[in-house]
Amino acid sequence: MKVYIQTDIEGVAGFCFFENRKDKNYENILHRQRMYRLFTAEVNAAVTAAFESGADEVYVNDSHGTGYNLIFEELDSRCKVIHGDNCSGPHWLPKLDSTFDAVVLIGMHAMGGTKCAITAHSLWVVNDGAIKLSEGTMAAAIAGDFGVPAVCVSGDDKICAEFAEKIDGIETAVVKEALAPHQACTLMPEASRKLIAEKVKKGLANLKNIKPFKIAGPVKLALYDSDNHAPPLKQIGEAVTADNMNEAFLKYEKAMPWTKFDSEEPYGFVFPY
Ligand SMILES: [Zn+2]
Repeated sequence: MKVYIQTDIEGVAGFCFFENRKDKNYENILHRQRMYRLFTAEVNAAVTAAFESGADEVYVNDSHGTGYNLIFEELDSRCKVIHGDNCSGPHWLPKLDSTFDAVVLIGMHAMGGTKCAITAHSLWVVNDGAIKLSEGTMAAAIAGDFGVPAVCVSGDDKICAEFAEKIDGIETAVVKEALAPHQACTLMPEASRKLIAEKVKKGLANLKNIKPFKIAGPVKLALYDSDNHAPPLKQIGEAVTADNMNEAFLKYEKAMPWTKFDSEEPYGFVFPY
């Protein structure tokens, strides 16, 4: 069994503010390092649970911000991590293809515009609003195009509710209850890891009964957000149409100024940015 773990940091238990990447204040650095440790531990709980469920291969995509959030030294040595500048390789979800048996999503956040959700941002609007997707359910839809089911998600109660509404049978690990956009009632780290491990195992055991989340094409796609992720959200870039979600996503993202898909030569990226 081959498992793909898509990750983000906003949905981790203990996280409730956007990062300030420019502030070199000691307290900010300590805080960010602490979030990386909480994030790494939750991802690791999912990795180990996947191996204990019979996985032979587990790929983890470190998909937040700089793509350099996971502390490798603290991860289960059996997994492989995709890291570095997001969207500079072949895809936002590099290496994901139809050879995978399941996708697990750890640390997801709600779509832009969701009330009382922790750091909600990015709203994918499909077919003029017939379907709305978060980054997490977009990843599930792309996996769906490859015929791969999303079997488990972790994050706050709002993103878990979105997944449960769209994907029958998916296991949801609610590691915190969002009380406001930047206030949560959270599980303690040990409890969140235990919950994630349990849910990943249940989801993988049930993967044959969970249908890939496939959105029928052709689709029209647009992204909404704002500079500081606060409403009002506005459309970023031009809407695109394509035969399926994966093609529409790639077409859309390739037109964005922050993406450098299929880079073959250095382009001056430095860490941190
Ligand atoms: Zn993120």
